[in-house]
Amino acid sequence: MLYKPLMKPAELVLLEFLNTRMNLSPADKQNYFNLKKGYEGETMFAGLTEKLQCECLILNDLLLEFNGSKFQIDSLILLQKLFYLNEVKNFEDDCYFENKRFYLSNGTERRDPLLQLERCTSLLRQLLHSLKINTPIESRVVFMNPLFTLYQAPRTEQIIFPNQVNRYLNKLNMISSKLNEGHKRLAEKLISLHINESPYSRLPSYKYENLRKWFTCALCTSFSISVQGKMCICGDCNHKETVEAAVLRSVKEYRMLFPDRKITTNGIYEWCGMVVSKKRISRILGKNFNIVGVHQWAYYE
Ligand SMILES: [Zn+2]
Repeated sequence: MLYKPLMKPAELVLLEFLNTRMNLSPADKQNYFNLKKGYEGETMFAGLTEKLQCECLILNDLLLEFNGSKFQIDSLILLQKLFYLNEVKNFEDDCYFENKRFYLSNGTERRDPLLQLERCTSLLRQLLHSLKINTPIESRVVFMNPLFTLYQAPRTEQIIFPNQVNRYLNKLNMISSKLNEGHKRLAEKLISLHINESPYSRLPSYKYENLRKWFTCALCTSFSISVQGKMCICGDCNHKETVEAAVLRSVKEYRMLFPDRKITTNGIYEWCGMVVSKKRISRILGKNFNIVGVHQWAYYE
């Protein structure tokens, strides 16, 4: 049973907005693509674990801390007498192990996923001990991408290759498990300990003035949007959206990118590319938000 669903990380959502509206540096672009790929892998794995039939609680994407050390768990599956911790990777390159180190095919050393897993498992075990829980933890690195190859892989059941994922989950399904209130309490406790980190410190710096204003397509993020009557139409993929929905989506984006800015008719009018009249923007805002203040000092919440 899914207990904590996977959510798109705010950092990724914001990077998506920025990637559309400004030129990211090559390093920021790389970071954006890595995050995006990682999230896609986690989504695939979460989709598969959701179908587990055994009695279990699934917690996705936990950021926890023990003794000042933070650790990230991609997927934790609580069974009656055993917990499965899964580190999900969506690598699609050729990689190899040599002298207990992990490399890309071009010889660049990469963070060893097995070491990462070991650290994470140890911290989770200590955290559980502090909660008086001694259930054993099995941990796995799950590689989701069928394009991934690992040469000289150590022979360990801790690594699950893409062609083994289904077998692995089938094995979990066979484990007999009866959950009780204690498991639920633990799941609740872990969720309450989850740290929500502010994504803003990790973003590249950006300024309102430097971001491109206009409607973007909800499907393909293109700026080729024309407004025809009540509809916004994408010139690239032909996706249609009502002006109201497009304005509200733009407001959401504006709010996330600039949490300190107030939502005003003028502000949103400009953010949407000054293509929809202020009167119409004001009507849409008035219908969907509460107005605070009057005349030129009015803003929406
Ligand atoms: Zn489009």
